Amino acid sequence: MTRLDSALEPIYDQVLQRNPGETEFHQAVLEVLDSLGPVVRKHPAYGDARVIARLCEPERQIIFRVPWVDDKGRIEIFRGFRVEFNSALGPYKGGLRFHPSVLLGTVKFLGFEQIFKNALTGLPIGGAKGGSDFDPKDRSDMEIMRFCQSFMTELYRHIGEYTDVPAGDIGVGGREIGYLFGQYKRITNRYESAVLTGKGIGWGGSQVRREATGYGTAVFVEEMLRTKGGSFDGEKVVVSGSGNVAIYAMEKVHQLGGTVVACSDSSGYVYDERGIDVELLKDVKEVRRARISQYAEERGARFVAGGSIWDVPCRVALPCATQNELDGAGALALVRNGCVAVGEGANMPTTPEAVQVFREAGVLFAPGKAANAGGVATSALEMQQNASRDSWSFEHTEGRLEEIMRGIHERCAATADEYDVPGNYVLGANAAAFVQVAEAMLAQGVI
Ligand code: NAP
Repeated sequence: MTRLDSALEPIYDQVLQRNPGETEFHQAVLEVLDSLGPVVRKHPAYGDARVIARLCEPERQIIFRVPWVDDKGRIEIFRGFRVEFNSALGPYKGGLRFHPSVLLGTVKFLGFEQIFKNALTGLPIGGAKGGSDFDPKDRSDMEIMRFCQSFMTELYRHIGEYTDVPAGDIGVGGREIGYLFGQYKRITNRYESAVLTGKGIGWGGSQVRREATGYGTAVFVEEMLRTKGGSFDGEKVVVSGSGNVAIYAMEKVHQLGGTVVACSDSSGYVYDERGIDVELLKDVKEVRRARISQYAEERGARFVAGGSIWDVPCRVALPCATQNELDGAGALALVRNGCVAVGEGANMPTTPEAVQVFREAGVLFAPGKAANAGGVATSALEMQQNASRDSWSFEHTEGRLEEIMRGIHERCAATADEYDVPGNYVLGANAAAFVQVAEAMLAQGVI
C-alpha cells in the first residue's frame, strides 16, 4: 500500500481515533482511501464539502438486545446490529450476518464496502449491513425461528421498502429470511414484499437470487480473463468455502468449462481431482447441513483437516468464505503454483499483503465490491419485481445479472484506464463507485 494522499491522511486518522479496535473497518476504509488520491485531486469540490469524512461516518447505527428461549427452556441473549451507512443513492440495502465473530466493527466494515458495491451495480440502492453474534450452527429449526422472531421484533422499526431492505449473508439463507419475513408481517400486519430480499420463489422471491453472487463472480472473472485472451475453459480452479456464494461460483465455473478441484469449510478442505460434484455438495451442505468431510467421504475424495486450500495448484482462485482468509503466505503459494487470476466472491477475503503479492506478480485481481456485486444487484431486481407485482423467468433474470456484471467489469476497467493504471480493478472499482456516491451527496447538501 502506498502512502495516503496528504488530504486523506487526517480523515483516516480520525477514523482510527473514533472507532478504536475496529480493525476490519479500518482495513476497509484504508483500502478505499488508498485509491482516492488522484480522484480528490481531480475533484477539489469533494474536499470542500468533506464528502469523504462524511462517508466514513455511518448515517445511523442501531445496536439491540436479542433475548430468546432455547429448546431446553434456557434464556439466551445475543446482540443485534444494523448499520445504515449511506443513503445517497437509494434506500439502505445490505445483508444480515449471523456468526459468533460478529462485532460492531465487522458490521461497519461490511456496511462501508456495501456503499461502493451497490453504487457499482448502477441500481438505486444505498449501503447498510447488519447481523448478530448468534451462531446458527447446530441449532434446531425451532431455535432458529425463535431467534429470528426476537431479532425482527426490534429490527422491524428500522426497516421498510423505502427505508432499509436487509437480505442474507453468512448464516442467513432462505430459511432465516422466511422466519424474519413472517415476524415482520405479523407485527406490522402488512405484506410488504420488498422489505426483505432473498425470499422464497413462491412468495415474492426472485429467480437466480440464490445463485446470483456466485454466478456473478464467475462471470466477472471470465470477463477479466478475456482481457488477456483467456477464459475458464479447461482451467483448474480453487474455490474456498462451501456456502451460498461458493457453491454457485463452482456451478458457473463448471458451466464455463473450468474444473473446480478444491473447496472448503471452516474445518478443512476437500481435494477432488475429478472436479467437485456440485449436486452432491448441495445435498450435503444445503439439504443435510453437514460438514465438508461428509462430502469427501461420500465422494471418495481427499479431506485435509486444517491446512491451507491455497496450496492446491490452480490457474484461478476464488476466495468465497470470509474476510482475511487469503493472506500473504497463501498468495505466495498461489503465485508459485501458476495462478493467473483471483476473484473475491467473499467480502475482503484477501489481506492487504496478499493483494500486494498479486499486484507485484501481475496476477489479475477482482475486488469483492465489484466481483460479488451480483447478489445485491439481483436483490434490487427482486425489489423491482415486487414493486411491479411481476415475476421474471430464470433466463430473463440471469440475462439481466450477466449484463450487470459485464457492465461493472467494463466500468472498473474504463475507470482504471482513465486514471492511467490499466488492469487495476481495485482503483477502478473504488474510484468509479466513489464518484457516483460523491456526486449524489454533493447534490443533496450537507445532511
Ligand atoms: P454461507 O452460506 O454462510 O457460507 C460461508 C462459508 O464460508 C461456509 O462454507 C463456512 O464454513 C465458510 N467459512 C466461514 N468462516 C470461515 C473461516 N473462518 N474459515 C474457512 N471457512 C469459513 O455464507 P455466504 O453467503 O456464502 O457468504 C460468504 C462470503 O460472501 C461472505 O464474505 C459474505 O459477506 C460474502 N457475500 C455474500 C453474498 C450473498 O449473497 N450471500 C453477497 C456478497 C458477498 P462453516 O460452515 O464451517 O462455517
